Amino acid sequence: VFDVLVVGGGPAGASAAIYAARKGIKIGMVVETFGGQVLETLGIENVIGTPYVEGPQLMRQVEEHVNQYGVDVMKGQRAKAIRKSDWVEVDLENGAQLKAKTAILATGARWRAINVPGEKEFKNKGIAYCPHCDGPLFKGKEVVVIGGGNSGIEAAIDLAGLSKHIYVLEFLPELKADKVLQDKLAELPNVTVITNAATKEITGSTHVEALTYVDRLTNQEHTLNVEGVFILIGLMPNTEWLQDSVALSERGEILVDKQGATNVEGIFAAGDCTDSAYKQIIISMGSGATAALGAFDYSIRNSFP
Ligand code: FAD
Repeated sequence: VFDVLVVGGGPAGASAAIYAARKGIKIGMVVETFGGQVLETLGIENVIGTPYVEGPQLMRQVEEHVNQYGVDVMKGQRAKAIRKSDWVEVDLENGAQLKAKTAILATGARWRAINVPGEKEFKNKGIAYCPHCDGPLFKGKEVVVIGGGNSGIEAAIDLAGLSKHIYVLEFLPELKADKVLQDKLAELPNVTVITNAATKEITGSTHVEALTYVDRLTNQEHTLNVEGVFILIGLMPNTEWLQDSVALSERGEILVDKQGATNVEGIFAAGDCTDSAYKQIIISMGSGATAALGAFDYSIRNSFP
């Protein structure tokens, strides 16, 4: 039986494990892939005190830090269910069951896929989800950004400094991004916004060569000859496995209070899988620390079999 069982090995889970382990209690970590989304990031410039670090390097350091505390890290394992009885019980996909006084859920999030023909085929062959990582690959090229929310418009503004021309495709009749971003976008000479556009397919031979969309007002198909497609249509929390166990928001995010507690006693959560307002590395690390202290407080105020 663990005192604290952390599910997830991104910044939130690692921070929770370290904070909890510093109380001298027994910590387990169930981790599908240690590092989380940060592994997909090349340059990180907003971890305070570290002006520049690459994602894989940062998470190697974080993993070493976790290992210094003797945390029992179960890598390559996916949690599939959680429930509260006398203990918090977590079922793994490999059939094992783990018991703990408290659990901290830190399963993060992933970028939403658009699910059109060509998306899987051309991933990393012209299709990207992160302008910070892959923007420079499209220097001087024509690209499409799918998504007119904040992340899509931020990406278009970012790419406009590098790429030849950017087409922003929004499914709805208008962009959803903050006005200040839309105003900034409108000033850029090399951006075309196309609303009411339903992406139909992405085509090419070895790399992306074109994107076809349907104008939802006229039903007409149009093809843009582009070499890159950035898909920025939202971040999905990795909480499908929690449907019936803890309270989730409409967007599937775990609802937490200011101690990081969920609606179920003894179960806490942190990071991008929660309803936190912003999804960033230091924010996830901060909420991991909060959840660990919350879980510790809970464990000293309750008795267990
Ligand atoms: P994640 O990093 O998503 O980690 C989730 C963890 O849970 C992973 O270990 C995963 O394997 C595990 N997991 C998921 N489901 C299960 C399960 N059922 N059982 C067991 N384990 C499971 N933020 C910044 O601050 N600066 C940046 O420059 C920056 N750039 C980014 C670039 C990209 C391309 C992306 C995708 C994100 C970027 N972010 C950046 C955001 C930042 O990466 C996230 O906010 C942060 O990683 C969230 O941490 P997390 O621990 O909550 O979740």
